[in-house]
Amino acid sequence: MKHIAFLGLGIMGRGMAHNLLQSGHTLTVYNRTSARAEELAHEGAQVAASPRAAAENADVIISMVADDHAARAVWLGEEGALAGAQPGAVCIDSSTLSPACMRELAQHAAARGCAFLDAPVTGSKAQAENGELIFFVGGDADAIERARPVLMAMGKTIHHLGANGSGAMMKLINNLIGGVEQLVLVEGIALAEASGMDTAQVASVLTQTTVSPILFQRKLPQLLARNYNAAFSLRLMHKDMTYALAEGLDHHVPLPTVAAAREIMHIGLAQGLGEQDVMVLREVLQPAK
Ligand code: NAP
Repeated sequence: MKHIAFLGLGIMGRGMAHNLLQSGHTLTVYNRTSARAEELAHEGAQVAASPRAAAENADVIISMVADDHAARAVWLGEEGALAGAQPGAVCIDSSTLSPACMRELAQHAAARGCAFLDAPVTGSKAQAENGELIFFVGGDADAIERARPVLMAMGKTIHHLGANGSGAMMKLINNLIGGVEQLVLVEGIALAEASGMDTAQVASVLTQTTVSPILFQRKLPQLLARNYNAAFSLRLMHKDMTYALAEGLDHHVPLPTVAAAREIMHIGLAQGLGEQDVMVLREVLQPAK
């Protein structure tokens, strides 16, 4: 049994923290907006006033926050988790961050005498709640073995991709494909509706063809119902596409389809739709009458 500090109780973090408690680990949680920690407090978690306070005495420290900026805010500085971490702790960032930010955090962790794993996840709100996440991990095999029982309380598979940063790169590759797929799904349904097809029937047929990834099955009910309660916000998908494009530039790999998709997502952000699910792109392409 481990004592775990968990930082970031958003859509994903809440489910992950819940599963850690369910598996018998003791938990101290921190969230920037403290009201969001109440639900976990009722389940038995301690609530800390800063990432630093949360990290004190923790065997494992996990962050699940929005982006590079948020990750630096919870890990670094006087009130950051690393300032409170005990040497020997395993630090894990499961957010989708840039590989460079993950490597930077790993260096700071090493200076503190801690191991660091970049361990972003695939799966969304439901998979976080059901402990069915898949982890893409970069870092030392040793640290992964120490973290394995904790990761397996939140997920079902661990892929070790290599050194720090490689888990983050795997995640960006996964999401640049997933982002384009979701946009093209919206385009297909928009055309189906405009041409007078029965969109429910089109959706049903689509899920039986070879073009349909599991993602389509998960997203189609929301898309057909124009229900945009966020499982994964447009803002965060736009962020992932932006990080992927930066990697394309760095590595001299053109990513024209990703660039076009990111710009369409940008229009959605400019229209104030960022906090809604990625499927809200339908309102960008085909506003409801
Ligand atoms: P979310 O619901 O928007 O939650 C974001 C979390 O980050 C909140 O706890 C938020 O705190 C915190 N945060 C944001 N800016 C911060 C800052 N400057 N300082 C401190 N904390 C800050 O996001 P999510 O959907 O749970 O996603 C979390 C991460 O997982 C993201 O990197 C996302 O790309 C990735 N991811 C998401 C999904 C998905 O389907 N949702 C799937 C896989 C991976 P407040 O409560 O104070 O705002």
